Amino acid sequence: MSFPILWALKAAPVADANERLILIALAEAARSDGTGAVLSRKQVAAVALVDVKTVQRRLGQLRQRGLIAEGDQREVIHLPEQSRPKAYDLLIPYSAFPDIGQVNAEREARGEEPLTPDMRPDLPDAPAKRRRRDLGTVLGPQRQRTGISEALRQFVYERDGYRCVRCGAPDDLTLDHIHPWVLGGVNSEENLRTLCRPCNSSKNATIEGPEVTA
Ligand SMILES: [Zn+2]
Repeated sequence: MSFPILWALKAAPVADANERLILIALAEAARSDGTGAVLSRKQVAAVALVDVKTVQRRLGQLRQRGLIAEGDQREVIHLPEQSRPKAYDLLIPYSAFPDIGQVNAEREARGEEPLTPDMRPDLPDAPAKRRRRDLGTVLGPQRQRTGISEALRQFVYERDGYRCVRCGAPDDLTLDHIHPWVLGGVNSEENLRTLCRPCNSSKNATIEGPEVTA
């Protein structure tokens, strides 16, 4: 495995899985120093399993935080303009390379100046996750069963003080539909409450029938 891939996989300060996959897609196409990753957004999207718009937005964010930069576009000048991909550089920090001597020898062989700590400074930590504003929407296939977004889940837990509203237990928390999901109860903050798993199961067993916990 090339070092840029390893860096993207293990060390790069990415904000989430999408960024990681996009970075891995670029790393796979990059040289040992992280430069010259020639890929179209479509190709990146195919690796990261996201749509092209997401790729575009995430590339912008990665650029803003200094993880990537636009590379030397002479690398792609020979390709047809209409479908021309972009060249990106992964700005792997100097301090991250396990064998900077080898990397710089390869750069020298290409007629490029050696990397220095100034050219490749350390990167800031990944930003903390922002709370999503789209409370209640489905985020991914694993949520299809209940359709409760991570944001809504966190909202209800926070509102209930991260405690079971029946017994006050702080652990093993689940979301409970007050009007049961199987009976058409909706995923709204009004219809959701925090129950610990024991309370949720005893409720299910005795009164309202099977319940979705997730
Ligand atoms: Zn409880």
